[in-house]
Amino acid sequence: MTGERKRITPTHRYRNNDKLVGVGNAFWNSSEEHGVAGIVGDLTDGVFHMADGHEFVNFTVCSYLDLDTHPKVIDGAVDSLRRFGVLDHCIPRTRVQTRVLLELEESLGELFGATVISAISTAAASTGLLPLIASGHLGDGTRPLMVFDKNAHVSLGNTKPTCADETEVVTCRHHDLDFLEDMCRTYERVCYVVDGSDSLGGYAPVEELAALQDKYNMLVFYDDSHSLSAYGERGIGYVRSHSPVLDERTITVATLTKGFGAGGTAILLDGYPHATRRLIERFAGPLGYSQKMNAAAVGAALASAEIHRTEELDRLQGKLRANIALFDSLLQTEQAGSTYPIRLVPMSDDTVVDAAQRVFRAGFYTSPVFFPIVARGTAGLRVMLRAGQSAEQITRLCAVLVEAGARPAGIAA
Ligand SMILES: *Cc1c(COP(=O)(O)O)cnc(C)c1O
Repeated sequence: MTGERKRITPTHRYRNNDKLVGVGNAFWNSSEEHGVAGIVGDLTDGVFHMADGHEFVNFTVCSYLDLDTHPKVIDGAVDSLRRFGVLDHCIPRTRVQTRVLLELEESLGELFGATVISAISTAAASTGLLPLIASGHLGDGTRPLMVFDKNAHVSLGNTKPTCADETEVVTCRHHDLDFLEDMCRTYERVCYVVDGSDSLGGYAPVEELAALQDKYNMLVFYDDSHSLSAYGERGIGYVRSHSPVLDERTITVATLTKGFGAGGTAILLDGYPHATRRLIERFAGPLGYSQKMNAAAVGAALASAEIHRTEELDRLQGKLRANIALFDSLLQTEQAGSTYPIRLVPMSDDTVVDAAQRVFRAGFYTSPVFFPIVARGTAGLRVMLRAGQSAEQITRLCAVLVEAGARPAGIAA
């Protein structure tokens, strides 16, 4: 080669892998060096067994009702595979499909009172849906200003560059209603993209957002993955329990892997015509060209849906609430008192990985978050409560956490 070859200078308007990898790898390396990441084990009766003989209970798993290991859900997956006779018939469903997804979508539609379209994952669904909203094809034809909440899940934030090729994209402070109203006054249409329930606790202000939806015809795209099953009648989730606007202005996605205990995701729609279903199946990115929920995942989801229709769901939600209350009676966290199953037990940046290691040796996995993954001064151990944890396990965990530096409940800061 002769002459100067060009070096590329990226714009980094919406993403930056130098920063992501640079910051993230230091965190992961430190976690792995302390033995609190990269863990391998076998799960039997709620306990992990490692090759070196160590055993632990996982306190950072999002299966809030333990439906992922429910015998009926496991049987549902196995039976479905035999019933449909094929795991994934690899052809876009828009051309040829078996009844498998239709059966699931009908069941979930009845359960949640919505039109349901399934996808292999929430990440795939959001990757496909958000650019269609950005271009106005999913909506009323107007290209909306896409306003992403600063704390929106990474699977939502990752779509910014694609959305920005179709419309204008901005990021706003967490739940900044004043900013949203300003944007609604300025732009023909606005779409706000936000988690219905946050990964570190708290819920979206759905009623205040509904007022903006009514006043300005604003669209809201909710990702309610953390509250499906764990919250609401029949496990309908936080958004559908509280949002007064359940029509074409509200689009919700919610994973079927967390509380629901199966696999895949549900796109929940109201008030859209049948043509919208076709538009999504054909043009929502991976939904049109990649794999669908397979027959085993569908069978698990159908079995989980059946459990959601019985009083067993109320019982499991009640056990989850009792476990959350027990935890809050023992340890102080900012989230104490919330119905939300996630707690962040505050620790200092310098001690949090050691604390996680100590807790792990005592037989419990909790995941440390610390600088540079979170801001300085907000480090801690993430704990997730589940219906299946015993009172004894929770009490013992809390005792170990206090020994590791956590603050017991009822002691002034
Ligand atoms: C866990 C989670 C996801 C990922 O869900 P998948 O169905 O596994 O893609 C997406 N969004 C939020 C808010 C989550 O908490």
